[in-house]
Parts: sequence; C-alpha cells; structure tokens
Amino acid sequence: MSPEAKINIKTVGVVGTGTMGQGIMQVFAQAGMQVLAYDAKEGGVDRAIKGIDKFLTRSIEKGKLEARAKAEALERIRPCGELGGLTSADLIIEAATEKLEVKEQIFRELDAILGRDVIVATNTSSISITKLATATSRPDKFIGMHFFNPVPLMGLVEVVTGEKTSHDTVDTVCELARALGKEPLPCKDSPGFISNRVGMPMINEAVLCLHEGLATRESIDGIMTLGFNHPMGPLTLADLIGIDVCLHIMEVLHRGLKDDKYKPCPLLKEMVDKGHLGRKSGKGFYDYS
Ligand code: NAD
Repeated sequence: MSPEAKINIKTVGVVGTGTMGQGIMQVFAQAGMQVLAYDAKEGGVDRAIKGIDKFLTRSIEKGKLEARAKAEALERIRPCGELGGLTSADLIIEAATEKLEVKEQIFRELDAILGRDVIVATNTSSISITKLATATSRPDKFIGMHFFNPVPLMGLVEVVTGEKTSHDTVDTVCELARALGKEPLPCKDSPGFISNRVGMPMINEAVLCLHEGLATRESIDGIMTLGFNHPMGPLTLADLIGIDVCLHIMEVLHRGLKDDKYKPCPLLKEMVDKGHLGRKSGKGFYDYS
C-alpha cells in the first residue's frame, strides 16, 4: 500500500507559493501526491514551478534523480487561478505571507468552500494556531505543519496542535510528514512553538555578544560551531533566516511570553532600519555583495 493510500490523502492544496510554498509543492509532488497551487500574486505559481524545475534539474546533474522522476513530479502540479480551484484537495497547507489578517481571510474563504473532512494546515512560524483556527468552523481539523527552509533538504516538520486539534488530525499529519520522508515532531501551540522559542534566543544572545563587543562575528560563530557542533554559527544562521524575521520572532516571544529575557537586541532593530536583512539584501552580519 502506498503511503498516500494509507493516509487517504492524494491531493494537496498549497496556498502561497513563495520560498516555503515552492519547497512544499516540490516535496508533495515528489512523494507522488497531486498538488493544486494558488498564489495571490499573478505569475507566482509559475515562478515556483520554474524554481522546482531548476532544483530538480540540478538533482539530475548531481546524479541524485532520474529525468523521468522530475517529469512525473512536475506533471503532478496544477496551478489554480483562484482559491476556488482547491476544492478537490484532501488537505490544504497554507504558506502565505506572515500576516494575521492575510491568513484569516484565506481560512475564512477556504472554510466556506472545502468539504467538512478536509484538514487545513498552516506553515506559520509565529502566529497562534488556536487563534488562526477560529477563522474556520473546523478547529478540530486545523493544525500547524511547520516546515523548515529549504524544505526539500530539511528533515523536520514541527507539528503544532491548537487547543481543539483532534488526535486524528495529528495522526494524519504525522503520517503525511513521514510519507514526505520527514520526521514529524509534535508540540503544543505557544509563542515561537519549540523551534523558535529555543533557537531564536540563542541567536539573539549571539547578537548581544557582538553588540557588547565581546568578540568578533567570526569568533562568536566559530565558538558555537566548534564548541557546540552546530553546522553553522548563530550570526551566519541569522543572515540566512533574515534579520527582519529574527527581530519579528523575538518580538513575538517578548510580547507573548511577557518576559524580558526575550527582549530583542537593539542591534537587530538597527540592522533592520538600515535594510541590512542578511543574505536576501546582500548584507547582514556578513557581506554577500
Ligand atoms: P514569501 O514571502 O516567500 O511567500 C509568501 C507568498 O504568499 C507570496 O508568494 C505571496 O504572493 C503569497 N500570498 C500573499 N497573500 C496571499 C493570499 N491572500 N493568498 C495566496 N497567496 C498569498 O514567504 P515565505 O518565507 O515563503 O513564508 C510563508 C510562510 O511560511 C509564513 O507564514 C512564514 O512564517 C512561514 N515560514 C517561513 C520560513 C522561512 O524560512 N522563510 C520558515 C518556516 C515557516
């Protein structure tokens, strides 16, 4: 029995096909599922498909994928011009812009057109799952499916349960993540979930050490890579994640957990004001120009 038959999910709808949505489309298509994709921006889905094509072509060149597998994966992806095109999906994964009002509007619209049994998952990294679930009439079938960037390469799916998420929904989503070759690790809904609650204060503390002039950026990163066996240092990681994203998540932790130990380092704010956002802007703690 194929994994998708066991979990009874054959068609997945992806809403928002930016950085994360593109990767999510790819892993579902490669796992043999049909993918219906919608993005509010014109040409957004086509850009994501081109990105997937490029990624899979590189995999073929490296001898990791057969040409036929690439063609089959791409054939499984169908762009939809509107949300209404996703009604035949067995599960939706939303990966749209990280704004509460944007996501709530998407969930209200989806809730009205989807069958009652359809699970709705969100890839949000900082908004409450319990809160988002209230935009639907199916809080039992609403869940966080938090993928990591780059999705095709990262092995984790943090499965975040809202107050009313049912055990069946958790089981289905965990099975689904396994069908993608990923490890699902569940946690309860709370600010930053587990990944950002543990990971982001470490980055913030590294930025504080730099801000206080305790060591150079290279020294801070080197101490953490060599001393803790981390694959990359916290400042390099911050540049990869985006300094604006790091600041936003620290603000979510600070506000949500009401504890000054989560106060964002002033240097993070300074960098965002200057537009030094990390790799994506060409400059962060390091220079990428
Ligand atoms: P992104 O900006 O690259 O992509 C967001 C996409 O959503 C864009 O293509 C945009 O056109 C589309 N969009 C906006 N409003 C929409 C709407 N109403 N309907 C459909 N599409 C809409 O953002 P991203 O980095 O891919 O992040 C997406 C989600 O994933 C966010 O919730 C973010 O918190 C989460 N996330 C991001 C990362 C990361 O490292 N980038 C990691 C984990 C989770």
